[in-house]
Formats: sequence, structure tokens, C-alpha cells
Amino acid sequence: MRLLIVEDEVRLATTLCRGLAADGFECEVVHDGAEGLRRTVDGAYAAVVLDLLLPSMNGYTVCRRLREWGNWTPVLILTAKDGDYDLAEALECGADDFLSKPFSFVVLTARLRALIRRGHVPRPPLLEVGDIQLDPFTRRSSAGAAEVALTAREAAVLACLLRRHPGVVTKVDILDEVWGTDAGVDDNIVDVYLRHLRRKLDAAGSSTVIENVRGVGFRLTSHA
Ligand code: CA
Repeated sequence: MRLLIVEDEVRLATTLCRGLAADGFECEVVHDGAEGLRRTVDGAYAAVVLDLLLPSMNGYTVCRRLREWGNWTPVLILTAKDGDYDLAEALECGADDFLSKPFSFVVLTARLRALIRRGHVPRPPLLEVGDIQLDPFTRRSSAGAAEVALTAREAAVLACLLRRHPGVVTKVDILDEVWGTDAGVDDNIVDVYLRHLRRKLDAAGSSTVIENVRGVGFRLTSHA
């Protein structure tokens, strides 16, 4: 299982490489974003561990370029930032998973193995239910003929509902996917974002609504 590690902190990169090698991975390390992009496109890696703040090109851009070029190598983003927008941005740029530094090595290897098992999975560029469409990369969304302007977070919440349609999504699902399991965010934030989304969809005249499934969660339902 060949991995590429794109990390400019040399000591951390070395530690990662050593640890992952002990776990049976074969690792290559680069310390620069543009070089990481070049190598990923050229090489056949089982997965890429990608730092965010990198010389020459940041991790978001590296990942976004890969996806724009149709390269679906699983990407796990590592970052020291624990800001609010990291997860939404990471998912939006096409990364598959996200881990904040400092992280547990056990968690890292477990997540990498899960990504590698799933493999290189192309994701549909456009998510669609009823009259709602969302491109999770550009965040452009529409309800019928009307454009719906969404923030990064709102788009991430809507993407979560669209991806799991016709399934019911729990508050915890949304929190995990959009804010991250370890973010320590109150789950009332989900209600706030659902309210924003409902208002925007309603204003656009959408025939698709976010339905409350009592005691379980939320589901998109089309009344077209
Ligand atoms: Ca860095």
C-alpha cells in the first residue's frame, strides 16, 4: 500500500513515515504542495496524506486540482488549524477525510485503511434531488430555474442531505460530516443551518423540502 505524504514539517513527516511503515505502508514524502500534486497525478498511490499549509500551493488547491483533473486518489487532509470552516472546506475541495493535529496515530491508520478499502471512487459532480441541484465543488446550487446562494457550511449541510437521499439523516450525522466529530460544537447549530437552508429554498420557490422525521432526523422530500 503506497502512500504519499505531503507535509512541510520535516520532523512530523519523518515520524509519520516511520510509523506508517511500521504498520505496513510504503511511504513517500514531499514537503511542497505543487510537488505533491505532480507526484499524485504521476504516481499510483493508495492514498495521500495532505497537510493544508504548504509552500507553493496549499492543500485545498492541491486537492481541488486533483478532482478537477478526474484524479480520485483518496485524500486525507491533516491540519493544525481547528477553525470552523476547515471541515466544510476540506469536503468541498474534494478531500475524503480530515484530521486535526495533534492526532492519534491509531486513528490516522484506521481512517487511512478505511479510505483505501473504499478505493478511488469518483463522486458525481452534481448532487440532485427533486428540483434541487448542488455542485459540492463550486458550491453552486439551484432550485428549479432559481439560483440559491449558499455559504460553505450551508452547502455542506445540504450536500449531506442530498447524498443520503432518500435516507433520513440524523443531527449527529450532519454534525459529524460538516463540523467533525471532535469539534465540540453544540448540536443546536444544525437547527440554525437547517433554518437558513429552508428559508433559502423556500425563497427560491423550491418544491423540495427538508422534512422533519420525528425523533429521527431529517430528509429531503420532493413535492413536484
Ligand atoms: Ca504545514
